[in-house]
Amino acid sequence: MFTLTHWIDGHDAVFDTTTQPIVNPATGQEIGTLALADAEVVDAAVRGASAAQAAWGATSLAKRMEVLFAFRHLLVEHTDALAAIISTEHGKTIPDAAGEIARGRESVDFACGIASALKGDFSANVSTGVDVHSIRQPLGVVAGITPFNFPAMVPMWMHPIAIACGNAFILKPSERDPSASNYVAKLYQKAGLPDGVFQVVHGGKLAVDAILTHPGISAVSFVGSTPIASYVQQTGIAAGKRVQALGGANNHAVVMPDADISFAAAQIAAGAFGSAGERCMAVPVAVAVGDAAEPLITALTSEAKAVQVGPGDDPATGMGPLITSASRQRVLDFIGEAVEGGAELVVDGRDLVVEGHEEGFFVGPSILRRVAPHLRAYCDEVFGPLLVVMEVDTLDDALALVNASPYGNGTAIFTSSGESARIFTEQVTVGMVGVNVPIPVPVGYYSFGGWKNSLFGDHHAHGPEAVRFYTRMKAITTRWPHHQQRAGGASLNFPGHT
Ligand code: NAD
Repeated sequence: MFTLTHWIDGHDAVFDTTTQPIVNPATGQEIGTLALADAEVVDAAVRGASAAQAAWGATSLAKRMEVLFAFRHLLVEHTDALAAIISTEHGKTIPDAAGEIARGRESVDFACGIASALKGDFSANVSTGVDVHSIRQPLGVVAGITPFNFPAMVPMWMHPIAIACGNAFILKPSERDPSASNYVAKLYQKAGLPDGVFQVVHGGKLAVDAILTHPGISAVSFVGSTPIASYVQQTGIAAGKRVQALGGANNHAVVMPDADISFAAAQIAAGAFGSAGERCMAVPVAVAVGDAAEPLITALTSEAKAVQVGPGDDPATGMGPLITSASRQRVLDFIGEAVEGGAELVVDGRDLVVEGHEEGFFVGPSILRRVAPHLRAYCDEVFGPLLVVMEVDTLDDALALVNASPYGNGTAIFTSSGESARIFTEQVTVGMVGVNVPIPVPVGYYSFGGWKNSLFGDHHAHGPEAVRFYTRMKAITTRWPHHQQRAGGASLNFPGHT
């Protein structure tokens, strides 16, 4: 048992507030206690961050990048330890946790080269003897509120870039798997980041509300479920902040009859059951077009049955537990409701028991077909190891189905036809699209973001869009008049072209 508290100004900060248990989802057992922030804790973090930001924002780009390079080095060196922490609190396998650290590190790589991304523009002699240049300056103190499913990667979409741009960053990670954030804070300290530039406050709604209304915070990045994303955006904007809020998803993978069916099935099963389906880029819906349906369902069935379910720290495990008992129950309810509504349960993972882990929050991979579109198993975000196969006649029907979804995070098409791929990528109303790639998460030097209810705000996350989000533009017009211009005086008229 351990106690985890906030990380403020370079050390564990203890306040007299409420706590909640930290649970290992593979055993269902409490392993620690988490301190939950209230407005007073958030205020202490903001005051420290604000004091530290003034000097950090004035630190040269060369020195800022030196810290980021050192942080990157430490991240690589400590991947195994960080992956073990993530696996224990989240439940995902250790290689999967190492994978999220590697994908998150892409943002650190990008931040190591921030000098290029922060270059401004310059135009000489825009009017006689007048030059214009633009620069991007940090916002000040910015905050990130992040979900449980990627406790290292999603925060890394934010903090390396915000910090490299000269801001101080306050992270409010998920209260369900909080320890990774304090570990990262210590790596930053070791890398030479001044205390106060990276703060961690733990908690739930109380902490989030304090962040959203604190006048010392200029911008908030949020990643989580759609209802909370929408609430965060509206509340943050009402308080005068810049907000980007990434929401939930219900990603469809379309399989054309000309696709390599066994390849598509393996990729879709990995997208549906990897990390127990708890990825915002998971593939909970396969759309079989025409003759693809029967061979696809046969292949998916054998893929699902081959998945080894168990605790994340067992090297034989392919898929771990769900995050909470309530998440497990939600998946069971969705399946039960679909079966009652006439769906066919092709693979039933409901009764799975993992020996030695009977109290863990496990559900086996499950597949449904013939699900009525109004049922939650299809139209809601399941966030569990449940794959629904929908059947349609044509590519146009598949596009209509995908585009009718209120979510627009990710989608994919499996095909051997360039024509089908091109039609699909052009016409689909989704932010991230894969062609024979089931989870098209863009690399760190592109940006990540969905459409519709999957993202509220103007900017996608990480990469170049994050630089725009975490800085504001200043345009500077300069004249160093020579003596003839000085002698000419000034006109009261609005200056025209000279
Ligand atoms: P969540 O919305 O429950 O929680 C996200 C954050 O919001 C957490 O830090 C949590 O403490 C806080 N929060 C929860 N309830 C709140 C409330 N009532 N008021 C204020 N703050 C609150 O999400 P989750 O269950 O942690 O994560 C899963 C969700 O995140 C899924 O919907 C998934 O699709 C989404 N997600 C989206 C992306 C993306 O890039 N679009 C990436 C990862 C996860």
